[in-house]
Amino acid sequence: MGEGELYRKGFGNKAAVRQKLADDFHHSDVVRRIKSNDYRLELGDISLHMAREMGFCYGVERTVQYAYETLEVHPDRDIYITDEIIHNPQVNEKLIELGMKFLYGRYSCGKKVEELQPSDIVLIPAFGVPVADMAKLKDRGCILVDTTCGSVLNVWKNVERYSKEGVTAVVHGKYTHEETRATISQVTKYPQGKYLVVKDIPETHIVCEFIRKGGDRTTFLEHFRNSVSKDFDPERDLQRIGLANQTTMMSSESLAIQKLLRAAMVDRYGEPEIARRFIAFDTICSATQDRQDTLSALLHSTRLDLVLVVGGFNSSNTGHLAELGSEKAPTYHVENEQGLVSADEIRYRDPKSGLVVTAHGWLSSGKLSIGVTAGASTPDNIVGRVIERLLEIRGISLEKLDPQPVAP
Ligand code: SF4
Repeated sequence: MGEGELYRKGFGNKAAVRQKLADDFHHSDVVRRIKSNDYRLELGDISLHMAREMGFCYGVERTVQYAYETLEVHPDRDIYITDEIIHNPQVNEKLIELGMKFLYGRYSCGKKVEELQPSDIVLIPAFGVPVADMAKLKDRGCILVDTTCGSVLNVWKNVERYSKEGVTAVVHGKYTHEETRATISQVTKYPQGKYLVVKDIPETHIVCEFIRKGGDRTTFLEHFRNSVSKDFDPERDLQRIGLANQTTMMSSESLAIQKLLRAAMVDRYGEPEIARRFIAFDTICSATQDRQDTLSALLHSTRLDLVLVVGGFNSSNTGHLAELGSEKAPTYHVENEQGLVSADEIRYRDPKSGLVVTAHGWLSSGKLSIGVTAGASTPDNIVGRVIERLLEIRGISLEKLDPQPVAP
């Protein structure tokens, strides 16, 4: 089949879906009240402090808007999304409720790409899709609505450039994450393209050790068996490296990884060779950076008894916010208000182990200062419901209270 139409800027009917988006995701009275009260609110014995940047980022706003525009323009067509549109279960479930279907992943409807018809519409999520998947979709001739975020495209541009110049792309990310899979696939556009994905500092040390001293190729490849390109040879392919990140990683970790790899390259090849052998670009997106920075600012400016981080358990950037919070205060990453079971019990994702656990005695009595933030894929109305649930289990009625300024 020939290629179908490709839309990269939605259908130009934002005005028609604005109200629906506000109703389904944005509207939260309590969030609005907190924001308009300088991001603080005192309610009974609870002082709430909200990070100044939280919730939907520009990329997520855009991808969800394009999904709604597509539904509005093509109410009679079959509309598919390749996989989760963003890492937030409520948003994905809302799209299913509106009639969208998913091709892969936890919400898969079972339809195969080979069965798609030219009349079908397929949305590409903000993470993008791997090069081979995009080629298959184009081959089906269906209408494609590509919502890949501009910040992700920027990473791809760097990775492509590395491949073109024969430089191995070293990507700080999780090789199972949709965005990273799409990013590393960019190297396949070039016969000499190579990649290596490192997920954290310990893995970076393994790479640095190999750069400095060489080592056992088989052991190296066994460790990175899922995260290197085909026929990767560490001796040959670590001689010139270019760095990139999954856009949602912890920026401090990415920076540390960059420094470690640079130092290893200097040790092996000497400073004069560095310009030729080592390239680094910070590709953490500004939305991720802003959410991390404003939470850090809040943690440093305010004594918090605990922090609530709201977002999908599989959301990378939300998980990193929880990690950041847990460095300063007990931090609970909840997906929605149901996580706040009672004043005694909370169900949350532990930022250290990554496991979803239940804790008791999380909400002590007496005055409490509570920080609130949310990942880039979390709509304001879910943050609002979490806050309302918190107040409910403390017996605080939102309606009866006027906002009082809170001392910093
Ligand atoms: S987190 Fe960053 S890269 Fe991801 S969708 Fe949002 S703006 Fe784009």
